[in-house]
Amino acid sequence: MNILITNDDGIHSESLLPLKEALGQIGKVTIIVPDRERSASAHSITLHKPLRVKEVRLPDSSKALITNGTPSDCVVLGVLEIMERAPDLVVSGINRGPNLAEDMTYSGTVCAAMEGALLGINSFSLSVTSYEAQDFAFAAKFGEALAKILVRNPLPKNVFLNVNIPDLPEEQIKGIEVTRQGKGKYQGVVNKGVDPKGRPYYWLAGEFDPGELEEGTDLKAIAEGKISITPVKLDLTAYELVPELKNMLGGILKCP
Ligand code: MN
Repeated sequence: MNILITNDDGIHSESLLPLKEALGQIGKVTIIVPDRERSASAHSITLHKPLRVKEVRLPDSSKALITNGTPSDCVVLGVLEIMERAPDLVVSGINRGPNLAEDMTYSGTVCAAMEGALLGINSFSLSVTSYEAQDFAFAAKFGEALAKILVRNPLPKNVFLNVNIPDLPEEQIKGIEVTRQGKGKYQGVVNKGVDPKGRPYYWLAGEFDPGELEEGTDLKAIAEGKISITPVKLDLTAYELVPELKNMLGGILKCP
């Protein structure tokens, strides 16, 4: 099995080696990651400058590739150009910090898995839900177990999994829940200040407020100390609105 690992925390992510070692148990691993942190880069790809790829060594002196692109660029490059044959699995992570609820849409980690799914490959994103996380051994082991399952049971086309793991010792994790995307809200997103030259600046740094936790959501599962696995579709169409919207637009649509 060929596995492509990418992430949005970049080549210096402390989770890279544990994940590579775990997935290396079950397949041949290729690592292509951004050369610096690209968190919150969402699904962006680089069209207006050339991408470079460079070989570097991980702390165990194994090979990894870095690019000046985004996480989604890494997947595109890996699948369409660099790997000898398309990978059987794309794993994006392990992210330091949660990727839950609406944050999924901002996340470079999640959207790299989305890119994998777009390219027709079994893909999942993996995050540990604390920015202070130090130990990625359990998350890496979980990623390996999930990878084994996905190889036997491939996901449907255009679906990927977003996996979040509580930052807890393994024995304190309360279980695994298949969840739906929750809803939260950011408070105080735009922080205005004045720079040393007297010019105003704006710094986006909201506090995430999960509000009341709804049953069955990724937010609730994590709050309860469970691993959250959300199956995510690429089709964002609001199907329930299609008939109503047709009616609403009837007056202005003169074409048949
Ligand atoms: Mn990140």
